[in-house]
Amino acid sequence: MGAENAAVILRSASKAIAFTGAGISTASGIPDFRGPKGLWKTYPEEFASINYLSDDPRGFWEFYSTRMGSIFTAAPNLGHLALADLERLGIIKVVITQNIDGLHGLAGSRNVIELHGNMRRCYCSKCGAPYSSSEVLRMIGSGTNPPLCTCGGVIRPDVVLFGEEVKMMPKAISAANSSDCVLVVGSSLTVSPANSIPYLVKQHGGRLIIVNEERTPFDEIADLVIGGAAEDVLGELVAFMANRV
Ligand SMILES: [Zn+2]
Repeated sequence: MGAENAAVILRSASKAIAFTGAGISTASGIPDFRGPKGLWKTYPEEFASINYLSDDPRGFWEFYSTRMGSIFTAAPNLGHLALADLERLGIIKVVITQNIDGLHGLAGSRNVIELHGNMRRCYCSKCGAPYSSSEVLRMIGSGTNPPLCTCGGVIRPDVVLFGEEVKMMPKAISAANSSDCVLVVGSSLTVSPANSIPYLVKQHGGRLIIVNEERTPFDEIADLVIGGAAEDVLGELVAFMANRV
C-alpha cells in the first residue's frame, strides 16, 4: 500500500531526487556504523578523525583498514538496484547518499553525490595522487603501514573524516533546491548537515517521502512515511512505476 502511494507522488514530480543512508546497505551486509550495534558504540569516533590520521597514521590505518576490508565483499542489493532502475526510468534524477560503500555506483546509478566520500578510493594527502583501496590494503597487508605515496606523503581514504567539512554539500544543496520531491531511503535523518537536504526540498514546497525501518525526526512533516526494509519497499515501488509510467 505504501509503495503504491509513493509511486503516485513520484509520478507527479518532475525532478525527484533520492537521499539514502545506512539502511539501504544493511541488506548488503554493511553494518550501520551509527546504529544500536554500530561500530561507533564500540570505538569512539576519534578513531576515524582527521586528527588521529595526522597524529598517528599507523594507528589510524590499523583501525581503518579493518573497516575498509569489510566493504569489498559487499554487493548492491535490490534497494540499490531499484534506485538505479528509477533513474533509468527517468523518475529519479540524482541520488544523494550518506554512505561511503560505493554501492549505488556499482548498482548502475549514474548521477550520485557521495556526501561523505567513497571508501573504495584513497588519495595521497600530500600530492593528491589517487590510489584504489584494494591497492592500499595490499600495502598494509604486506607490512607497509602507514601506506605511503611515491612522493612520500601518507595515503588517506577518500572519505570525510570526523573533523572535516562535507565538501559535497553545495552540490547536494543545489540538487535539493531544484527538486520537487525527495525520496529518503534508510536514513534516520539524524546526521547533520546531511539531514538538511531533504528538509530543503520540503521547505520550498516539494514532497517528502520517507522509507525507513525506524521513525525519524522528519516523519511529522513528511507527505508519506513507509516503515519497512529499503529493498522490499523499493522493489515494490519499481514494480508500480515500471508497469504504469
Ligand atoms: Zn603523493
